Amino acid sequence: MYISQSFIPILKNNPSEAKIKSHQLMLRVGMIKQSSAGIYSWLPLGFKVMKKIEKIVREEQNKIGAQEILMPTIQSSEIWKESGRYEDYGEEMLRIKDRQNREMLYGPTNEELVTDIFRASVKSYKSLPQLLYHIQWKFRDEIRPRFGIMRCREFYMKDAYSFDISDDEALFSYNKFFISYLKTFKRLDLTAIPMAADTGPIGGNLSHEFIILAETGESKIYTDKRIFDLNSEGTNLEKKALENLRKKYEEFYSVTDEKFDKDEFEKKVSENNRLKTKGIEVGHIFYFGDKYSKPMGASVDLSGGKKDFVKMGSYGIGVSRLVGAIIEAKYDEQNEIMKWPISVAPYDVGIIPMINKNDNSALEKANKINFELKKNNIDALIDDTDENFSSKIKKMNLIGAPYQIIIGKQTDGDLIEFKEIGKETQKLDITEITNKIKELKEKN
Ligand code: ATP
Ligand code: MG
Repeated sequence: MYISQSFIPILKNNPSEAKIKSHQLMLRVGMIKQSSAGIYSWLPLGFKVMKKIEKIVREEQNKIGAQEILMPTIQSSEIWKESGRYEDYGEEMLRIKDRQNREMLYGPTNEELVTDIFRASVKSYKSLPQLLYHIQWKFRDEIRPRFGIMRCREFYMKDAYSFDISDDEALFSYNKFFISYLKTFKRLDLTAIPMAADTGPIGGNLSHEFIILAETGESKIYTDKRIFDLNSEGTNLEKKALENLRKKYEEFYSVTDEKFDKDEFEKKVSENNRLKTKGIEVGHIFYFGDKYSKPMGASVDLSGGKKDFVKMGSYGIGVSRLVGAIIEAKYDEQNEIMKWPISVAPYDVGIIPMINKNDNSALEKANKINFELKKNNIDALIDDTDENFSSKIKKMNLIGAPYQIIIGKQTDGDLIEFKEIGKETQKLDITEITNKIKELKEKN
């Protein structure tokens, strides 16, 4: 893709209305455009990144056996009255009336709707467990939308729901999501720590928030630093292995502020391992048993002829918030360099030919290189404008393709100037370059 033909409306300076770096960068390079308070349009660069995140989220859901569905954004108030949440949810819920004067709402979450789908079709314990998820827009009329897409009103969320026959089986489902979240965030090159959390309006008693550290985050966290050394490597999807994985994490004190207890923190964590800081919530998982299945009558036949309400959990990931969270984690604000992980980068590589008015040879060379890259499924952005070199580099640094190819006076014969963004230049030939990028893409 040529920059001259792309829709990447870059601003010269940081927009003054943005207070945190993700919001600044997203406006600066034209990833989003606000359409009204807390509501955004996603422009090509931002949309590309979000779609790549979505793909990874989806792959990791599928790996634990969750099945994708798509529920509507607009819901009827009837099911929310059944669960008792129509009143409870309060002003965050956007309530709408249709032309028949029926009360509708724009879904802030989907426990009721998915329970209604489940109860209509599943009648026997033999069909359990069921893990269903969808990736869909949500609306919450946040009292103070801020920080761009980090806390907005309309946002894109993956929400999954599990249905099981017993508490014990339900915890097995919970643990599947626990591992899938660790793996998802790792593929996004983020260190997300599971923290014991409050359940809020979703309800229930077991819950973890997945939080990445960031000074600009809105969650206060208290944790044992040693938790950062843990990972899920080598854990398979068997019940016992998953139980042990969660235990391994839960051995270390790690909570959000609603669960914080000073005495406990100081008793359990030695002084040099204590970490009090802030973070961004990127995912949240809940176990709430029959909180919805009971009032909504979602039961199944058991083997002995009896019936019981299914035990449910729900599991959210803020897909659109993750775009901002990755920027908070990876953007070097001082040098204005954004380093997207290759797994979600809007482009794999930026090509910067030095173009003179009466000499097209650098652009021709760029086209040739791009032809080779394309054959290997490597997505390049070519800066074909006639701006000067330093502003081209600046622009490419903000866009943040993880690699850059520079074609200028130094380009002799087959050797091309190639660099990892923000690092020293190397001279490699095109085969070496494609192999390097291909290898990295395959690993991620
Ligand atoms: P928060 O504590 O940040 O308000 P929440 O606990 O209300 O979030 P959940 O119901 O757990 O959110 O939703 C699942 C995920 O959706 C969150 O972990 C977060 O990543 C994302 N999310 C929630 N609210 C917003 C919002 N207003 N804007 C963007 N993403 C959001
Ligand atoms: Mg939450």
